[in-house]
Amino acid sequence: MNFDADYTMTIDGQGVAGASTFPVINPANEQVIAQAPDCSREQLDLAVAAARKAFPKWRATPFEERRALLQAMAGAIFANLDGLKRLLTLEQGKPFADAEFEVGGAGFFLQGTATMDLPVTVNEDSAERRSETRHVPIGVVGAISPWNFPVILAIFKLGPALFAGNTVVLKPSPFTPLTTLKLGEILRDVLPPGVLNVVTGGDALGPWMTEHKGIDKVSFTGSTQTGRRVMQSASASLKRVTLELGGNDAAIVLPDVDVNKVAPELFWAAFRNNGQICIASKRTYVHKDVYEPLSKAIVDYARTIKVGDGSEQGTLIGPIQNKQQYQRVKDLIADSKAQGHKFLLGGEDHDGPGYFVPLTILDNPPEDARIVNEEQFGPIMPLLKVDSIEEAIAKANASEYGLGGSVWSADTQKALAVGEQLETGTVWINETQHLSPTAAFAGHKQSGVGVENGVEGLLEYTNAQTIVVKKATAA
Ligand code: NAD
Repeated sequence: MNFDADYTMTIDGQGVAGASTFPVINPANEQVIAQAPDCSREQLDLAVAAARKAFPKWRATPFEERRALLQAMAGAIFANLDGLKRLLTLEQGKPFADAEFEVGGAGFFLQGTATMDLPVTVNEDSAERRSETRHVPIGVVGAISPWNFPVILAIFKLGPALFAGNTVVLKPSPFTPLTTLKLGEILRDVLPPGVLNVVTGGDALGPWMTEHKGIDKVSFTGSTQTGRRVMQSASASLKRVTLELGGNDAAIVLPDVDVNKVAPELFWAAFRNNGQICIASKRTYVHKDVYEPLSKAIVDYARTIKVGDGSEQGTLIGPIQNKQQYQRVKDLIADSKAQGHKFLLGGEDHDGPGYFVPLTILDNPPEDARIVNEEQFGPIMPLLKVDSIEEAIAKANASEYGLGGSVWSADTQKALAVGEQLETGTVWINETQHLSPTAAFAGHKQSGVGVENGVEGLLEYTNAQTIVVKKATAA
């Protein structure tokens, strides 16, 4: 397969050119890499029609056959790992090693999803009747993914949606369409025509999907602001929705930590993928007893990290993915400067091409600062000094978001007692960002509606169906 050209949509198992095209930019040098297909409304109709046509047969395909096909999808991804990884770095900006982790992780998540089963609940099994509740597929799923992890976040949707017996129309972000287009092309050889359709386009395409009468469920990952629009649009036809939205995760550091051990871990919790992770630690609350040595250790470590073009040897952090986000991150930093916040690292402008922002660490900005309150989604780490753990918990929870959070301590039980008080969908103790295909991942508060991954995530792609059978032997 040629990963450098021939980017086509997948509709009914065929490669389809767009009605027109739009440019895709390499964020490391701002050069146009390729033209991606721009899906017209009529082409979306064709993709939805293909998914509808494929649905009855796919729904009737034995569960075990679908399980094997998920494994085959994983195999196809592993077989194309190198090409997918290179393309992902080119369009997304992340270093090769991170791109490989993401693409490999996509295969791993498909394999993990394939180990699960849909539960059947027996409600009654008496002399008179048997009643059981099963879970049947919903129909056509519209899957909409963001630009920070285009491959794995698409797979979070595809795996369970297809496994449960639905067909899919998948739309990646216009900032990162290429890897997803190639994924669609690879999977044409694995899945029956129409079961997975991949479309790409500009800002109109997402809303066309959420209002489309032929789509029964929308699974969306993106910002909270867009999530609200998706829910509103989906409500017209009572589409089922799963929304994985923004976050402003807190990391809480207890005074008993081994400073040198946790400094690099806390650094990566904030800066992995250049901070463009929904579950990045975006507010790091540190007990006053260790604040000074820990701040110094994190800044010292940060100075050793190479930021640059993800395709260059030794790069550990790439550019911001797109110009819009680049401007937003720069605006947050400018606001902090204007407010007189103290910078331990960063704050200077970047010269030259590419959407690069120097790693930025702030020394105890006020709690109501934009850089603390808002989801930065960039290489920014506000270190926040607290007098007590109670204060840290209260501040961590004083957020409209509730995606994830972490607690760091030499005493696991003590950390767990703190973690259990966090109002978030996931809590990590002495690590962060670990996700599993078999563990529920959900956003509380404004971080989402519904669940991805785990049996709970699988069930989101089903309707409950209760079957009541009166027994022939009943009086
Ligand atoms: P975004 O909301 O701008 O876009 C996400 C997707 O929605 C893109 O494919 C976009 O084209 C599409 N879209 C835009 N407007 C739409 C509309 N009106 N109707 C339907 N679709 C529309 O988000 P982004 O900037 O691509 O991603 C960053 C955000 O995603 C951050 O807030 C981040 O926290 C969040 N995110 C959440 C998770 C999670 O699992 N909770 C994971 C990754 C990213």
